[in-house]
Amino acid sequence: MKDSFEIAVFNGDGIGPEITRPTVDILTRLAKAGGYGLRFKDVPAGAAHYAQTGESLPEASMAAARAADAILLSAMGLPSVRYPDGTEISPQIDLRKALTLFAGVRPVRIFPGQKTPLNLPEGKEVDFVLIRESTEGLFHTQGRGEVSENEARETLLITRDISEKLFRFAFGLARERKDAGRGPGRVTCVDKANVFRAFAFFRALFDAEAANHPDLASDHAYVDATALWFVLKPWDFDVLVTENMFGDILSDLGAGLMGGLGVAPSADIGADHAVFQPCHGSAPDIAGQGRANPMAMILSAAMMLDWLGLRHDNRSLVADGTRLREAVEAVIRRGEVLTSDLGGTAGTEEAASAVLQELGL
Ligand code: NAD
Repeated sequence: MKDSFEIAVFNGDGIGPEITRPTVDILTRLAKAGGYGLRFKDVPAGAAHYAQTGESLPEASMAAARAADAILLSAMGLPSVRYPDGTEISPQIDLRKALTLFAGVRPVRIFPGQKTPLNLPEGKEVDFVLIRESTEGLFHTQGRGEVSENEARETLLITRDISEKLFRFAFGLARERKDAGRGPGRVTCVDKANVFRAFAFFRALFDAEAANHPDLASDHAYVDATALWFVLKPWDFDVLVTENMFGDILSDLGAGLMGGLGVAPSADIGADHAVFQPCHGSAPDIAGQGRANPMAMILSAAMMLDWLGLRHDNRSLVADGTRLREAVEAVIRRGEVLTSDLGGTAGTEEAASAVLQELGL
């Protein structure tokens, strides 16, 4: 059993350093109390780094990310800093491709007391995970689409190799959640197989993987109907798996159901590497004011502990991942220390301190 881990930390742009600092502090204290080791290595990258040096993701940072046991990333990019072709600096997308992080894991959780635009029936909680394929799909020709005066074309790519890995991952996650008492063990394939041959192919590969898991349930849903059910009956879902662009859109809908980006965590997971980061961006409009909500970043760190613990058979990390998530939920549920995006007046440090207090650290 491994009990010492190296974490590459991308402090990022805008509010990035403000939410990273308290998150690393919480992780450091948890590790000390839990008897395992976490060593953090700062790795420079991002828009501000590009503006200073002309490099957005230095080779040394990429090498450090590859060598680390896990990667913690806040957010990168600033609308005011761009490449000569006018596009933004986005090393987080470059990392996804370079490390083949095919599974974008977006948990959607709404517990009693949490702010949500939904009118949840009494006693209903929402706890599902959307898995967005993150390396191909409609993003395949990203930046290389063909545009002429009268036509524009992008190509959607679905491969057997990535789809098989994606579906294996999805059923594995459904099993972990079932074992942890967090779901019935059901995977829903979200597609548009009624219209596109590529999605019929995607669905056939999903069904082939489903046949390997007789102890788990599986079903299908069209993406348009899924958007409807996200709003009308979100408590019905367990694990959903979908193509890149569909997942891109549905994951923001999921963040909206949870009350906003400030509480939406995510992970981008591949066979050998994983990046844990909040769903939100660098929020330049509130950067430097000390009022960013750190909860999405802290929840992403909880996902990292869970992933490291399961991967390296270390139950302390898995237990701390759960403890950390529950501490964040307790702070939000009590509602006494909330940042302004959740209707409160607390600053970043104060909100993070409330989590530490909840943890008794
Ligand atoms: P954004 O997510 O940064 O901000 C959208 C809105 O949500 C803003 O009003 C912001 O203040 C608020 N917000 C976001 N996170 C918050 C938090 N933790 N606490 C409180 N409020 C929060 O999206 P944007 O404004 O479209 O993008 C800003 C920059 O971030 C852009 O350069 C964009 O390219 C980049 N970006 C990066 C990532 C990433 O690194 N994964 C993701 C999205 C956007």
